[in-house]
Amino acid sequence: MIERITLDLVDHSAQRYNSVGDWYFDEHDSTHLIIKGTRLPNPALTFAQWAVGIHELVEALAALAAGVTAAEVDAFDQQFELDHAHDDLEPGDDPRCPVFQQHQLALAVERMFIKALGVDWEQYEAEMDKPWLKRRRAEARHNARQSAK
Ligand SMILES: [Zn+2]
Repeated sequence: MIERITLDLVDHSAQRYNSVGDWYFDEHDSTHLIIKGTRLPNPALTFAQWAVGIHELVEALAALAAGVTAAEVDAFDQQFELDHAHDDLEPGDDPRCPVFQQHQLALAVERMFIKALGVDWEQYEAEMDKPWLKRRRAEARHNARQSAK
C-alpha cells in the first residue's frame, strides 16, 4: 500500500533514463512512491514545469490500481528507448505499452492543467523537449565514441 508520495523537480541528468518524467518505488520502502520531473529553467514555466510530475502521478496511480507493476513499465520503457533511439516517439503512445491507457488519461490531465495556467501547449512541449534532445545527442555521441574504440 502506498503511504507516501514525493514529487521532486530534478536536473535532467539526474533522471534514471532519458525521460522528463519518471516514477518508481523507494528501494528501501515499498510504501513510498517517488516521482521525478525534470526542472525547466524557463521562468515562464515556474508552475507549468510541475505538469510532468502531475502526469506521472496520475499515470502511476491509475497503472498501479489496474495491477500494472513498476517493473513492467520500466522494462517496456527501457527496451523502447533502445528500439527508438532515432525517432521521437514516446513509449506511452505505443498501444503495446503496459500503461498506454493510463498515459492517455495522464496526458489529458496534463493538457487541462497547462491550459488552466494559460500556457501555450506547443511552447510547453518545445521547452520540455530541450533537455531530452540534449541528452539524446550526448548519448549518441558517447555511443559513437564507444563503438569507434
Ligand atoms: Zn505518460
